[in-house]
Amino acid sequence: MATAESLRHVLTQFEVAAERLGLDAGLRRRLLACERALIVSVPTVRDDGQLQVFTGYRVQHNNTLGPAKGGVRYHPDVTLDSMTALAMLMTWKCALMGLPYGGAKGGIACDPRTMSRRELERMTRRYTTEIFLIIGPDMDIPAPDMGTDEQIMAWMMDTYSMQRGVTVPGVVTGKPLLLGGSLGRREATGRGVYYVAVEAAKVLGVTLEGARVAIQGFGNVGRTVAQQLKQEGCRIVAVTGSRGGRFQADGLDLDRLLDYVAGGARLEECPIGDRITNAELFGLPCEILVPAAIGGQVNEANADRIRARILVEGANAPTTLEADAILRERGVLVIPDILANAGGVTVSYFEWVQDLQFYFWSEREINLRLREIMSQAFQRVQAAAEQHAVDLRTAALILSVQRVAQGHRLRGLYP
Ligand code: GLU
Repeated sequence: MATAESLRHVLTQFEVAAERLGLDAGLRRRLLACERALIVSVPTVRDDGQLQVFTGYRVQHNNTLGPAKGGVRYHPDVTLDSMTALAMLMTWKCALMGLPYGGAKGGIACDPRTMSRRELERMTRRYTTEIFLIIGPDMDIPAPDMGTDEQIMAWMMDTYSMQRGVTVPGVVTGKPLLLGGSLGRREATGRGVYYVAVEAAKVLGVTLEGARVAIQGFGNVGRTVAQQLKQEGCRIVAVTGSRGGRFQADGLDLDRLLDYVAGGARLEECPIGDRITNAELFGLPCEILVPAAIGGQVNEANADRIRARILVEGANAPTTLEADAILRERGVLVIPDILANAGGVTVSYFEWVQDLQFYFWSEREINLRLREIMSQAFQRVQAAAEQHAVDLRTAALILSVQRVAQGHRLRGLYP
């Protein structure tokens, strides 16, 4: 999705919810405005000695309910508009889940796949130094997003800590376990997608045993969803990466597929099932469709071909406004991103709490608490959808915007 387009999308969604809540114009303006946005140069020496200057961002949309929280994205599509849209989505996501956070997002416009580890480290350390003044465990807590991982978080934590002169694990989440990371964080987003898919299946009376599942994206989120739903008895009929993937009507052998990919094979070339394109994946007859790649993938070009009963948004903003309307008309149950992929930030919250207390929980405890929070959030959204006679996305936004608006009213305006 063009980046200005993703911002338009988020703003339109907000207006629908604000209208329903009858918010006055002043409060709407306050809720829409970003509290802080920092654009930084990230000069980085490449391995060949050339100096390249990347552009980095950190956008804090809102911190009414607590410190800002959100991922760091390394991707060529990173712009101020896309970071703003995603920061705003984080505000709604955290509010919806009842987490004591506002929303933020950051990133660097770069293609991490073309960079060496040393280059990524130098770039990450410089970026962290540039945004040092506005991050911190009680201010803004970054986490992994597309193109970033535990190692990047470790470098961010180290850079921040070296500048402060003390080790500050709570400045980022999604860290390696050894440095104050949390058990279950890596799988958390995928697990959350799975928990809400189970709830949605119950609502529609879809039996998971034998249900057909198609997943776009075979990264951290897509893989975990596939494994979890397979354990539940579903048939994973298709998975795709950026250049397509594999299809098998009676269900793919996931373990073998993962082995091939771990061995360096491209997903679309693995000798399991048949090759399938991303465009074909969206037209597959299936019970559950999970877009878990980049934004804007479900759009006017494919929405009227979607034959899934449930679409669970593993990615952030995967469905365009136009596609959303088409899916509504076609009776596809869409579980919106701010609910569906909130498992990641929820376990980030657990990680931060553990870091602040220097006391760590068992994986079982983490997964149980995550399941409870996800299922309860799903039920709240489902009840709000019935109460207001709206789709789940609008219902989720009504609940989150209401919470942040109430926070604003209680805090009042400074000075
Ligand atoms: N990047 C993830 C998201 O979009 C996680 C953010 C976090 O854990 O702070 O929700």
